[in-house]
Amino acid sequence: MRVPSCESPSKDEGPTFAASVLPAPQFVDDLHRSVDRGEMDVYYQPIWDLATGELDAFEALLRWRHPTWGVIAPDFFVPLAEESGFIAELGSWVLLRACADANEWVASGRRVSIAVNISPRQFELQSVERIVGEALALTGLDPRCLDLEITENVAVADVDAVAGALRRLRELGVGCALDDFGSGFNGMATLGRLPVDGLKIDKSLISRIHVSETARAIYRAVADLGHELGARTVAEGVEHPHQIGLLRAMGVDRIQGFLVARPLPAAQARSLVGSRPPEGRVPTPA
Ligand code: C2E
Ligand code: MG
Ligand code: MG
Repeated sequence: MRVPSCESPSKDEGPTFAASVLPAPQFVDDLHRSVDRGEMDVYYQPIWDLATGELDAFEALLRWRHPTWGVIAPDFFVPLAEESGFIAELGSWVLLRACADANEWVASGRRVSIAVNISPRQFELQSVERIVGEALALTGLDPRCLDLEITENVAVADVDAVAGALRRLRELGVGCALDDFGSGFNGMATLGRLPVDGLKIDKSLISRIHVSETARAIYRAVADLGHELGARTVAEGVEHPHQIGLLRAMGVDRIQGFLVARPLPAAQARSLVGSRPPEGRVPTPA
């Protein structure tokens, strides 16, 4: 079986585990029971607006607290959930939970959006329009406060069907962003076929922009492409202070990364709503 990253996703989340010793079938059984057993949690990573310096949104990121193995990162268990079909139940759960948390934060008087990752497999397994409609109706969240993130690799799904669903969701006011743009070969083709209003530039493209002219040129071209298409751009994986000024000069709209803040438990995320980072830099929440 695949070996997950053993790096802890956040210093708050405790150690992750060495999954190489796990028998896969038992692991998948555990995964299928994780929601009912209350082991799944949603963490929230802030996204800051570079122009205003204000907190603009949070990305909802799943964490699984396995009773034996500790915190397990989604890069490991989401693909397993996609293979087994459990991603439909898990995806509905995370959407509802994120909309409920966001609605509570918006009710406190501050505007903030919530970005929820939707797996391409979900479009094959369930009506994403229906689960989004149900989550909005049950929680009362304004559709304009919800963004869906679809990975650029939607090759496994019927792109035309996905495009139709996203178009109808956008008519309701829900935002749709292409995630991890630039990480694979499908991005360009996908970008041309999906009605997205946001582009999240993959973190693999940012790591050297403050040391390499070539890396900067590539990044600028991707950001320009997003702007030409009228999409709001988000720089993922911002880790170095020198990257901020470069991103601003490139006209990138928003930033997300460990320099700003790691994914946080809901209570800590809530305390950031309405806050501003100090000039030029962003706070790492206590
Ligand atoms: P993603 O949607 O691209 O989410 C961003 C990932 O980058 C997160 O990893 C986040 O912790 C990480 N990250 C953020 N800033 C930095 C940084 O400055 N440096 C580095 N090295 N990493 C940074 P995470 O939480 O481990 O999630 C990994 C992936 O798992 C996500 O990538 C997404 O594809 C998937 N995922 C997470 N939650 C869900 C979910 O609810 N549903 C679905 N379908 N997929 C999810
Ligand atoms: Mg994402
Ligand atoms: Mg991403």
